[in-house]
Amino acid sequence: MTLVGGGPGAVDLLTVRAWRALQAADVVVADRLGPVEILAELPPHVRVIDVGKEPGRHPVPQERINELLVEHALAGADVVRLKGGDPFVLGRGGEEVLACVAAGVPVEVVPGITSAVAVPGLAGIPLTHRGVTTGFHVVSGHCATTPDVSDARITPGNRASGASGPLDATALSCVRDGTATLVVLMGVRSLGAIVAQSLAAGADPGTPVAMVENGSTPEQRVTRARLDEAAAVAAARGVRSPAVVVIGRVAAAGLLEGADERRLAGAGV
Ligand code: SAH
Repeated sequence: MTLVGGGPGAVDLLTVRAWRALQAADVVVADRLGPVEILAELPPHVRVIDVGKEPGRHPVPQERINELLVEHALAGADVVRLKGGDPFVLGRGGEEVLACVAAGVPVEVVPGITSAVAVPGLAGIPLTHRGVTTGFHVVSGHCATTPDVSDARITPGNRASGASGPLDATALSCVRDGTATLVVLMGVRSLGAIVAQSLAAGADPGTPVAMVENGSTPEQRVTRARLDEAAAVAAARGVRSPAVVVIGRVAAAGLLEGADERRLAGAGV
């Protein structure tokens, strides 16, 4: 089984090694995110199994995905598991490796371009920048108890009660103390809770936030806001998954002015 990271979505952000693995496959088990267009271009004999997940919905449970990989590999097929971004960045790739290894199926890993770094980059946002910050921290915004962004309002009341929330201590310190850029994947739904928690912990309300949707696709869109207005701006603009949320001074508009004029002309706020 070859576990392939497909990058953030654009077919030309697949690595050459990923492309070769796909061309050589008998069976490709694919997700909703990532370079889905490549699937239509594969040789006709390649069998594509779509196990794509929508946010909050899991059409094919992870255990079944693991079983599919093992079954086809044991039947002698050259199986590619194609995932968005990098397989080991919030992608459950490790679980798939363990399932295969437990069944005696050897695994090769083809790393991918992770959206955590590439999607901000495509929007002209460097995660580190000399004189601004020297590190970044990537977290998942997924948290079952967080409210939807559309009903997340920052009021003095929930500021006071926002001591707990989706961010762990390291992530919170990134936002509050500016120790590193915070990158949140799967963070659209929990954005209001992240903002409330950060403000309650004493973060600067003017901290820049950028939300980059559908990075590397023709639908790429960048929304910028101050931290204290981020949830309201996201709701007003209809920001939706998949999006990468970047919090920190590198997210300020104009830091690298002109870095992506082609895509960004008129797209920011
Ligand atoms: N393994 C993947 C991440 C999987 S988690 C990687 O390395 O990129 C899924 C989350 O990744 C999405 O909710 C979103 O936050 C982010 N994401 C993936 N592709 C994206 C894209 N093209 N544009 C914006 N965000 C993306």
